[in-house]
Amino acid sequence: MKTAFVKEQSIISVDETEKPTLGSGDILVQMYACGICGSDLEKVYGQYGQPSMRLGHEPAGVVLDIGSDVTGFKKGDRVFTHHHVPCYDCHLCDHGNETMCKKYYETNLLPCGLSEEYVVPAWNVSHGGVLKISDSLSFEEAAMIEPLACCLRAWTKYHYQEGDSAAIFGVGPTGIMHVMLAQAKKFSKIFCFDINDFRLDFAKKFNITESINSMNEDRKQKILEHTDGRGVDVAIVATSSMKALEDAIDMVRKGGTVMMFGVPSKEAKLDLDMSKIYSKEITLVTSYAASDKDTAEALNLIESSQIDVKQLITHTYPIIDSQKAFDHARSGDNAMKIIITK
Ligand SMILES: [Zn+2]
Ligand SMILES: [Zn+2]
Repeated sequence: MKTAFVKEQSIISVDETEKPTLGSGDILVQMYACGICGSDLEKVYGQYGQPSMRLGHEPAGVVLDIGSDVTGFKKGDRVFTHHHVPCYDCHLCDHGNETMCKKYYETNLLPCGLSEEYVVPAWNVSHGGVLKISDSLSFEEAAMIEPLACCLRAWTKYHYQEGDSAAIFGVGPTGIMHVMLAQAKKFSKIFCFDINDFRLDFAKKFNITESINSMNEDRKQKILEHTDGRGVDVAIVATSSMKALEDAIDMVRKGGTVMMFGVPSKEAKLDLDMSKIYSKEITLVTSYAASDKDTAEALNLIESSQIDVKQLITHTYPIIDSQKAFDHARSGDNAMKIIITK
């Protein structure tokens, strides 16, 4: 079977690898679709700050084999598989910080999701890490469960009300998911920022208030005009750009919330005027990854057609062309979500 690895900075190799052995509680899955995430790009091209360098954590596929003790799944099941599952028993899990749990980091798909076949460990199989998907859902759509789940989790971390305004910084695939969620939550004004013209145009299809180029010098003025001079209630940063984070802090209203959603590069620094944060009473919140509650909710929203993720998928590449797919995803040229297929 073939598996994609980070060979060196900017280089991916797709190598023949040995099938991992199947433990009695594990399942073996044939990957049909796996999205490329911003964090994957950070692993290949950037300075990723998180410990795992495995590529692909959004895979969906078909169960090829099950361990002797596995119940609830059988060969041929169509599934989404979550890469990390927490212990549900520690201090952090107990406080709703499941994605910070030690077990969460230790549970991994082997060798990784960007592999023709991969093993899902017993813990994940028996603790909500594998979700059966309906026949009507494509594998490509199922590969959108994990990113949508991450967005859903972010929305549990701040207060908002119907009629609020949001600015989304970085309207790649997850940025647009945040747009869709803001609409579902009846936000009255949604502003989209990016430097990529294709993405700014793409965002316009979603009935937003305005798409604004992040280089536009009047950008803050535009926000103030639309919000009675206040600034937005919620600013979501769905990019690793520190400049976007700076803008978010600048454009959020007094007492508003800035959500750090995109993964910053390792040791990314920001020269912040903390007196402004204090006197404007700005809440800065972060959200990392998703729990099984979030993935289950994401699947439900997709299967019930409440969130249409299909329209975000612009390109697919077979696993053998992973380098091309990643280069394309990095450039963002005429692309939203790029998915690797079997
Ligand atoms: Zn991701
Ligand atoms: Zn835990």
